[in-house]
Amino acid sequence: MRTLPDSMSDAEVFAELERYASGDLDPHTRRMWGHIYYAGLSDVVEIARRAYTMFMDKTMLDFTVYPSILRMENDVVAMTASLLNSDDSVVGNFTYGGTESIMLALKAARDYFKKKKGENGEVILPSTAHPAFYKSAEFLGLKPVRVGLDDDLKASVEEVKEAVSKKTAMIVGSAPNYPFGVMDDIKALSEIAQDRKIWMHVDACLGGFVLPFFRKLGEKVPDFDFSLEGVSSISADLHKYGYAPRGASVLLHRGSELRENHVFVMASWPGYPIVNTAVLSTRSAGTLAASWAVMHYLGEKGYLRLSEMILKAKRKLIKELPSIGLELIGKPEGSVLAFTSELNVFRISSIMAEKGWYVQSQPGSKHLNFPKSLHFSVNPGHAEVVDSFVQDMKDAVEKAKGSEEIDLSSFMTGDMDIISSLGISEGELPENMEMINELIHVMPPEVVEEIFRKIVNEMLFKPSRY
Ligand SMILES: *Cc1c(COP(=O)(O)O)cnc(C)c1O
Repeated sequence: MRTLPDSMSDAEVFAELERYASGDLDPHTRRMWGHIYYAGLSDVVEIARRAYTMFMDKTMLDFTVYPSILRMENDVVAMTASLLNSDDSVVGNFTYGGTESIMLALKAARDYFKKKKGENGEVILPSTAHPAFYKSAEFLGLKPVRVGLDDDLKASVEEVKEAVSKKTAMIVGSAPNYPFGVMDDIKALSEIAQDRKIWMHVDACLGGFVLPFFRKLGEKVPDFDFSLEGVSSISADLHKYGYAPRGASVLLHRGSELRENHVFVMASWPGYPIVNTAVLSTRSAGTLAASWAVMHYLGEKGYLRLSEMILKAKRKLIKELPSIGLELIGKPEGSVLAFTSELNVFRISSIMAEKGWYVQSQPGSKHLNFPKSLHFSVNPGHAEVVDSFVQDMKDAVEKAKGSEEIDLSSFMTGDMDIISSLGISEGELPENMEMINELIHVMPPEVVEEIFRKIVNEMLFKPSRY
């Protein structure tokens, strides 16, 4: 009979976990410009950890068991709603992330539409909309309808108008989008939605906890929230610029008649009735408590101060990076920016990695006319390291200028070949991300998708040998 490994002592467990973690980047160094939203203050992390562990073992599954959980959820939703110009009709729920908030919004819109029209309907998605919408559409049987961008890289209002039909269940706008940090013209989109009585979802996963403070600091931030009557629902991620630990987001609806469509209830089994206001059922209340704690600890003043720091770092990047050959894409209103270049941006990212910085490469797509770029999710803590970052970028750009182009010709001969040529071995991450990003840029997206599905399914996620 097969058995689990021998028991370890606590010292052995943690020595082993330390060994595993030794190859990881440290999210608290302020040297990562993607995949971390960190206030840059160890006290905030400490507060979140304490609240997290305090509620870690309490489940959000059944809200009748722990009264504190319902209360914390209503508090967190209320604070988020007040930032987004909600009136008393706005209701919402806590979820475990942007994807979950988006999936619930789509579920609600689908069922709302179905009640009236008897079918699932279509979702209008500007090409910068987050993949979570496509994922949700795939899960929920909705048809995504893609629309292009205007010259400012905002969703083309004209194309949205043309795409709207009797089948449209939802129009989506981003505030801002992830790739370029540009806000769609939510006002114009919401007016189309209002006119045609269509559900309008604003994806403020990134902007929900930044844009309101930027506005208070005097930045020009176009209207994007419930101040616009045509806006039906908004997603805002606490685990991004709310500075909560990962696993925290809020979905808001304009009114309980809309929210009703995302609530799941099931009382026809022998157990207790399941009543879910989210996709997930059993989940730790830790991230909710941590969100509650961080929001109260920072408060209005804290978020304002952190937003000021973001602005400082953002301005510095916008001022300095163009002088070394990087070109800002669009006019990002929030805390996220992207730069493209004639230079080899993936090489720059690799050189920066050697210097201990994480700069996210965005491969874009030659076929869809999306540029190669570098992405920056600016965090407050970056304000203190941005000068040395810019200096290292200057060095990296000089080095990249002397480097050779990657030769992709050997790859253009069928997909299994590509997988083996990438030198990916089972259960291990590939070394040469530069090459992979170049390939993603030049290959048709359908081919990229097929290859990735294969790599993930057949190579990477293989049970380790015990
Ligand atoms: C992060 C993000 C999402 C998805 O959120 P997850 O928290 O990663 O599930 C959706 N939209 C935008 C604009 C985002 O930045």
